[in-house]
Parts: sequence; structure tokens; C-alpha cells
Amino acid sequence: MESVIDELAPNFLGDGTLNGNDDRMPYSLFVEAVEQAPMAISITDKKANILYVNEAFSKVTGYQSTDILGENESKLSDKSTPRHIYYDLWHTISSKKTWRGTLCNRHKSGHRYLADLTIAPMLNERGTITYFIGMHRDITQSYESEKKIINQKLLIESVINSSPIAMVVIDDQDRVILDNHMYKALVSDLDKGEPATFFLQLLRNEMGHLWQQTQSNEQGFNNREFRIEGKGSRKTRWFSCAGNWFIENEVNADAFFENASKKYLILTITDITRQRRQMEELHLQTLKTIMSEDERVRSIRETLLGAMHQIQMPMNQIRAAEQILKHKGDDQNAGLLQILQQIQQSGEEATTTMQKCIPEILQGAVIPVNLNQILHEVLLLSDQRILSKGIDVHWQPLSQLPTMLGSENRLRILFKQLIDNAIEAVSESDSEEQRLKITTDADTDLIYVCIEDSGPGIPVEKRTKVFEPFYTTRPMGGNQAGMGLVMAKEIVNQHQGIIDIDSSYDQGCRFKISFPLHKQEFRGLS
Ligand code: FAD
Repeated sequence: MESVIDELAPNFLGDGTLNGNDDRMPYSLFVEAVEQAPMAISITDKKANILYVNEAFSKVTGYQSTDILGENESKLSDKSTPRHIYYDLWHTISSKKTWRGTLCNRHKSGHRYLADLTIAPMLNERGTITYFIGMHRDITQSYESEKKIINQKLLIESVINSSPIAMVVIDDQDRVILDNHMYKALVSDLDKGEPATFFLQLLRNEMGHLWQQTQSNEQGFNNREFRIEGKGSRKTRWFSCAGNWFIENEVNADAFFENASKKYLILTITDITRQRRQMEELHLQTLKTIMSEDERVRSIRETLLGAMHQIQMPMNQIRAAEQILKHKGDDQNAGLLQILQQIQQSGEEATTTMQKCIPEILQGAVIPVNLNQILHEVLLLSDQRILSKGIDVHWQPLSQLPTMLGSENRLRILFKQLIDNAIEAVSESDSEEQRLKITTDADTDLIYVCIEDSGPGIPVEKRTKVFEPFYTTRPMGGNQAGMGLVMAKEIVNQHQGIIDIDSSYDQGCRFKISFPLHKQEFRGLS
């Protein structure tokens, strides 16, 4: 060993003291440093025959210097390292370069360990290789931990990927850090850009300051449902969102002494369209029953109101005749006057009886209402009629329409009336285009609904009259009692709204309706 060290010494060593002008390292310090280095160090000849090992080498390999000096480094080999690695090792060091890699070694006691090995060639003054110096560490444990982490990550990824729910991890800058297959599918399915950004926006809007609150308390949220309007061939879909925040300690060098951490959100997005459609189907059945009952009530009301209206005319004439006779004070007509009074009395009794028979209209509770939902339902209710008449429906709802306060039932009746009128008008028209267009919109104060048809339209002079009782542009009879728009206006008024016929539109008829929107208050946790 000493001969190797002696040979290497002139490269590093001084005269054995730290004094004097020569500031190179003393020999003993060099030997001590190599001897006590916390890494397995060996020095070999050009054929890897071991000439020197330090203390750490004995600890790592299990071989004392007496066991191993004169042996080849191959004694350390477990014989499971692929040959091409040795080929690369020897090719590198023979080319006077340093080689670094991992080999599988066998400890003297028999167990395998992984050696993170660096071999550097030592050159003499002529530049030829004289020795090799090898330094290695046992990295079995860190390799195992690293592998375990990778395996865990793979396991988590495969569990997440097999989930039927879209999952995404988002950092505090709204960047997607991790996602699964279902989430990736949403990117193309929804066509809303990055789905996480889209849903975060919806959640922040819907939850208001509650969003910050749950974030700072790391409380999480669930069952936040959103309806995404379909456009073109895309159908309307529903999603339910849940989220949980978690904190991760930073792993980069900057945070080594600072213990910095970052907050992440795990957002799950469940497509609940199927369940919603089933519910919608059931809801529609119920609505159909309610609407047909409502229509029955309305037709009884209109018939009775119409009859009362009809009776009113002769009654007025009788009242006038009675006044004339009374005025004359002629005894000769006393009998006639009596008959007229009797007719009048029985007429009044008849109208009072009719008045009592007028059934009440169901008002329904006043709640926040989404008009997109109502219009969508009404369109579904009229689906058969629209299809049978071959009408082209252009349904253009504003995505995320704000709510308004109102009675769902009354609003449904209002829009059913307007849409039924439009269907009727379009199918009566000679025009080739059979179009019904419904749009919704909103600004900071109002919600707008526009119902437009390609029918014959309403002449300018009749536009105010159509809102008067018993006025109809069509022949009277059946449901055509001329009360539909009266009722429509009444419902709009009840909701502090405005209904108008657009005077600038001349391709048919366009009803413009607006309502004050419901300024949302604190909505409470999920
Ligand atoms: P070997 O017959 O020894 O060699 C296999 C292949 O290596 C040969 O086919 C040839 O391509 C190449 N080779 C071998 N010797 C030479 C040479 N002198 N010149 C050019 N190419 C050559 N191996 C370990 O498994 N574990 C260790 O910890 C380890 N530490 C080493 C430390 C040093 C400083 C050096 C120089 C080598 C070390 N080796 C180590 C490599 C070791 O010497 C063997 O090459 C290896 O263990 C394979 O041994 P083997 O008996 O299976 O095959």
C-alpha cells in the first residue's frame, strides 16, 4: 500500500511539515484523510487488482484489507450486473476518463447491495494510466425508498386513472399539476379550454367569499352542481364538483432551511348528466300533468270569463232600457220594468255564480329561478309539436344565466304560452322558413329572453291590442279565447318584468321579455 501512496504523494505532499515556504499537504494528513473518508475508497493497478482500501471500504463491503488486498475488484461483484455495463466501465476508464454508475455487489456476508461507484484513472507524468481509484457508496436504501415512491406514484396514478370521475390537482396559480384520463377526456368533450380553469371560474362565481373561506380553512366543498348548456351538436350536460385543499412542503433547495409549503386543490368533476336526464324525464312527466291540469283550469277560467264578458253586453243594454223606463215614470210600463229588473237580477246572479266557479290558478312559491332551465323544459314539453310541424329550433341560452326570483310554475305557463303562440304562427305561415329562435341574455341588472318566430308577425296597429282581454287575431273558439297574452303580461307584471313586441323586427314576431335578476346572497356551505 505504502508504495502506491508513495508514488502518488509527490502530486499532493510537501516535506512532512506545515511550516516553511512549501504549503503543500503533509503526507500524514493525506493518508489520514483517505483513511477516514466516509466513502469506500480503493486503489487498484491497471487490471483492477486491489492495492489499497480504506476503513469505509471494509465497512461497506465487509472485507478487511487483509482479505482483499491482491484480489481483483471483481470479487465484489454479485455477477448479476449486465456485461455491457462492465464493457462501458472499462471502455471509459481505459480512455482515461472517469466512469460513474451503479453496480450490483455482494457483501462478504452474502447479501447484495447497490454500489454507486466512481472510477477515476490516475495518470503518470507521461500521461499513461498507472492506477485506478474507485469510490463507492451503498445506495441500496435510498434506491429502495426512491423505488417505493415511484411505485406508490404509479399505484396512485393507476387508481386515479381508473376512476370514472375526472380528477385534477391544481396549484395556487391555477395550474394543472396532475390529472387523470377522465379529466383529459373533458378537454375535448367540453370545448371550454382548460376544464379546471372553467370550473374554477364557475365555483368562484357561485361560492363568492365562501371560496376564500373554505380555502383558508382547508375545509373543502362538495356537491356544487353546474349545468353546461349544449351548443350545436353538443347536448346540455350537468357536472357535480367537489374539492379538497392540501398542503405540500416544498422540496427544492430554496426551501431547505425555510420550510416553505404550497397549497394545492384536488378537484373532482363528476358527470351527472345521466342521472339528471332521468330526473328531468320524471320531472317532465310531472310537469306535463301539472301543465295539462293548468291548461284545463285556464280553459274553464277563459270560458267562464268569456261567458261573463258576453253576458255583460246584453246586461248593459237591459240596464240602459231600465234606466230609460224609470226615467219616463210611465205606469203603463211598470210590468215591463219589473221584468227587466228580474232579468237583470237573474243575470247578476248568473255572473256571481260564474264568478264563484272560476277556479284559482296555482301560484307556486317564489324562489330563485333559472330561466334557461324553464325554457329548456318548455321546449321539451313542446317537443312533439315542434317535430311534427318540422320547425327549426334555434335555442341560444346564455351559458351561466343568473337567476331571478319568481314562481317556476307561473313562468313556465308564460313561456309555454309564448312558445305555443310562436309554433302556431310559424305553422300557419306560408314562408318556407319554419324557425323558432329563443335566446337568453343578461347584464348587471336584468335577464333578457327573446322569443322570435318566422310567422306572419303582428301588424303594428294590433301590437298593443293583443294584450287586451278577448282580443285575438285568430278565429275565436276552443283555446283561442284571446286571453293568452293577457295572462302572459299579467305573469310578467307579477315578476316586475316587461314584455314587448320588437318593433324593429319584420321577419315574423319577436317578443322581448326582461326581468330583474336575483342578486345572490351568501349561500352557505354545501
Ligand atoms: P471480467 O472478466 O473481470 O471483466 C468483464 C469485462 O470487463 C471484460 O469482458 C472486459 O470487457 C472488461 N475488462 C475487464 N478487465 C479489463 C481490463 N483490464 N481492461 C479492459 N477491459 C477490461 N466490479 C464490480 O462488480 N464491483 C465493484 O465494486 C467494482 N469496483 C471496481 C473498482 C475499480 C477501481 C476498477 C478498476 C474496477 C472495478 N470493478 C468492479 C470492475 C471489475 O474489475 C470487473 O471488471 C467486474 O467486476 C466484472 O468482473 P468479471 O469477473 O465478471 O469479468
